[in-house]
Amino acid sequence: SSWWRNVEPAAKDPILGVTEAFLADPSPDKVNVGVGAYRDDNGKPVVLECVREAERRIAGTANMEYLPMGGSVKMVEETLKLAYGDNSEFIKDKRIAAVQSLSGTGACRLFADFQNRFHPDSQIYIPVPTWSNHHNIWRDAHVTQRTFHYYHPGTKGLDFAALMDDIKNAPNGSFFLLHACAHNPTGVDPSEEQWKEISYQIKAKGHFPFFDMAYQGFASGDPERDAKAIRIFLKDGHLLGLAQSYAKNMGLYGQRVGCLSVLCEDEKQAVAVKSQLQQLARPMYSNPPVHGALIVSTILGDAELKKLWLKEVQGMADRIIGMRTALRENLEKLGSPLSWKHITNQIGMFCYSGLTPEQVDRLTDEYHIYMTRNGRISMAGVTTGNVGYLANAIHEVTK
Ligand code: PLP
Repeated sequence: SSWWRNVEPAAKDPILGVTEAFLADPSPDKVNVGVGAYRDDNGKPVVLECVREAERRIAGTANMEYLPMGGSVKMVEETLKLAYGDNSEFIKDKRIAAVQSLSGTGACRLFADFQNRFHPDSQIYIPVPTWSNHHNIWRDAHVTQRTFHYYHPGTKGLDFAALMDDIKNAPNGSFFLLHACAHNPTGVDPSEEQWKEISYQIKAKGHFPFFDMAYQGFASGDPERDAKAIRIFLKDGHLLGLAQSYAKNMGLYGQRVGCLSVLCEDEKQAVAVKSQLQQLARPMYSNPPVHGALIVSTILGDAELKKLWLKEVQGMADRIIGMRTALRENLEKLGSPLSWKHITNQIGMFCYSGLTPEQVDRLTDEYHIYMTRNGRISMAGVTTGNVGYLANAIHEVTK
C-alpha cells in the first residue's frame, strides 16, 4: 500500500499545458496559438483530402496482422525517397538503415537510445532554443546534453557566427542535432550558403549530424525544396541520422507514423544497424502500428494521390505565409513603432515573436490569447477572423 506514496505529480508539459488552459477558458474571444497543429481558416483541425481518399481506398481491404519489426517496407521506401531524393544513390546502394517509427518523437527517441547503446560516452549538441521535448528525449536515453548557439534575440534571426564557433569548439566526433527545416520554435533556418558552411565545418570536425525533419513541406510549401539541407550534407559525403514525421505535413498527428534512418558506409553496415534498431524497438513496443503507415504508402505509392498531397501541403504553407503577412501588416497599421519584419522573415509553423513571458501573461489574462511563455506563436492558429484581434492585443501589450 505504500508503493507509490513518494510519487509527486510530474511537471506539466509547457506546450500541452497551454491547450488545457485554453479549453478551460469560457471566453468567446479566446485564441489558441500555442499548439503546433495546423488549423484551417476557421480554426478547425484539417484532414487532408488525399488522406480521406486513401482511407476510402483501403477501407475493409487490410488485415490486422503485425507489421515486421522494422515497420511497413513500402512506407519506409517512399519516406526515404522524400528525404534522400527519388534517385538517391544511397537508396540504390542499400546504404540506409531505416525503420518505421512512432512519428518524429519515436524516431528521435530510438536514435537517442541507439546513440547511447553504441556510443555510451558521447554527447549530443542541441540548439538553443529547441523543441522542448528534445531535452526530455536525450535525457531519458541517458545521453549527456550540450547546447550550441542558434537564435539571436537581437536580430530575431540566426546567430551564425556563434553557431559556427560552437561547432568548431566542440570535441571532434560530437553528435549535433539539427532541425532540417522550419526550426521549432524560432522559424529561423540557415540559408543555403550557411548550410553549406555548417556542413563543411561539421565534416571537418568529424561530427555526426542528426536531422530532425518534422516539417518537410511546411517551410517552402514544397517537400523537395525543404530537403535541401539534407541534400547538401549528402553531397558533402556525411554519414547522418534522420527523423521524419507525417504528423504535420500529412496531418497524421494521432496516427504516429514516421521513420528513423541512418546512412551507413555500406550495405553490410546498414543491415547491422537496422537489426540493432529493431532490437531496441522490440522490448519497447515490439513493432509499429499499421493504419497510418498504410495511409502514407497508399498516398505516396499512387501518382495521382501524391500530386494531391503536394498540392495540399502547398496550400497549408501558403495559408500560413498569408497569415504572417496579415499579422505584420495589422501591427504596422496600428502604428506599432517596433519592427515586425521577423514575422514574415521566419518560416514554417512558428513565429518566435520576441514577446516576453510577462507580455504573454498579459495576452492570456487580458485577451484570452494562449501561447507558450517563450513568445512562440503558432501561425497555424492565426485566421482571417482572429488576426486583427491578435495584432491589436500584441500592440497593446508591447506599447
Ligand atoms: N521534432 C520537432 C522539432 C517537432 O516540433 C515535433 C512536433 O512538434 C516533433 C519532432 C515530433 O512530432 P511527432 O512525434 O508528432 O511526429
